[in-house]
Amino acid sequence: MASKEVNNVCEEREHSQRTEGELSLFRSKLLKWFDNHGRILPWRGIADPYKIWVSEIILQQTQVVQGWDYYHRFISAYPNVQSLAEAKEEEVLLLWQGLGYYSRALNMLTAARQVVELYGGIFPREERDVASLKGVGPYTTAAIMSIAYNAPLAVVDGNVYRVLSRVEGCEVPIDTTPGQKFYRTLAEIFLDREKAGKYNQAMMDLGAMICTPSTPQCPECPVAELCLSRDNLELQQLLPIKAKRVAVEDRYIDYFLLLDGDSLWVERRDKKGIWKGLYQFPMQEQKGRFLTERQLNERYGEDWKLVETTDLPDHRLTHRQLHIRVHTYQWQGELSSAFESPLEQIAISDHHLYAFPKPLRAFLNSHFS
Ligand code: SF4
Repeated sequence: MASKEVNNVCEEREHSQRTEGELSLFRSKLLKWFDNHGRILPWRGIADPYKIWVSEIILQQTQVVQGWDYYHRFISAYPNVQSLAEAKEEEVLLLWQGLGYYSRALNMLTAARQVVELYGGIFPREERDVASLKGVGPYTTAAIMSIAYNAPLAVVDGNVYRVLSRVEGCEVPIDTTPGQKFYRTLAEIFLDREKAGKYNQAMMDLGAMICTPSTPQCPECPVAELCLSRDNLELQQLLPIKAKRVAVEDRYIDYFLLLDGDSLWVERRDKKGIWKGLYQFPMQEQKGRFLTERQLNERYGEDWKLVETTDLPDHRLTHRQLHIRVHTYQWQGELSSAFESPLEQIAISDHHLYAFPKPLRAFLNSHFS
């Protein structure tokens, strides 16, 4: 996908429409679950930035089960940053043998020497100093700063991308620069700033244990009541989106603009998917093609006369190309038209008081300004 299109998706999607109440419910449910069900790991419950750093580097490309023994061996050989700084390269590599991605070990050795030279052997406390260590990127910086010092920085890794994109039903891709920026902001919005270290570890565990890539356990999930992908296997399999892997599907939307005198009929979209909670005309969406003329004429019976069909510009989403038509019907009946909820009748002159998806807003503005 071209970066311009990704940008559009990011711009169109607000970071989150969550209220402060929902965010605080999310955090408290997550943290309570973590207290009772979080993983018991050798590097948990410690505030030593050196040990947290070692564990995070080991886990960058290694499963927890495999990393466990390496962590113990590494820490018993080099219990603090000074001992690592004094180690020989061959010794460190020998200890790392079998873990792969050996540049991780060499970078740690360089970084340990940096700590000794620049900070007298005391692991730095400032974000910029931690971030300047060799091999320490934004994720590891946030993990060390939040877990060791409770600094309010959100970690964003594969687990966090997956959980947040599913909780928010968010189609912004995770493998583009604007997409990654979008998720960093989203992660900061969700972060429990008072308990950042615990919150970050809870998010990692939720992604590793419950909201797993292929079989999320929604019935066991502490944040299920706030999740827009809950029990929706199709959406869960789709999220998080990778732009480079996206197959674009053509979808056809027929909107029905039902005009009765000075009023029109609208409905509110549900709280899922795109345009959630916005108003729209009654609609039908399908794969393959628009509705036929016959289907349109038969749709509302003879009191509604189809007077015009307007093609709107296509609307591109990450994995869908939306083709959109608005069919305008005029009420011909003797009494006033009537529909049941969720349809509601509004004055045409009030249309600007309602939030519509971008294509319908442009249509309304051009037809009823
Ligand atoms: S409810 Fe299901 S999809 Fe949503 S975060 Fe929990 S496990 Fe993941």
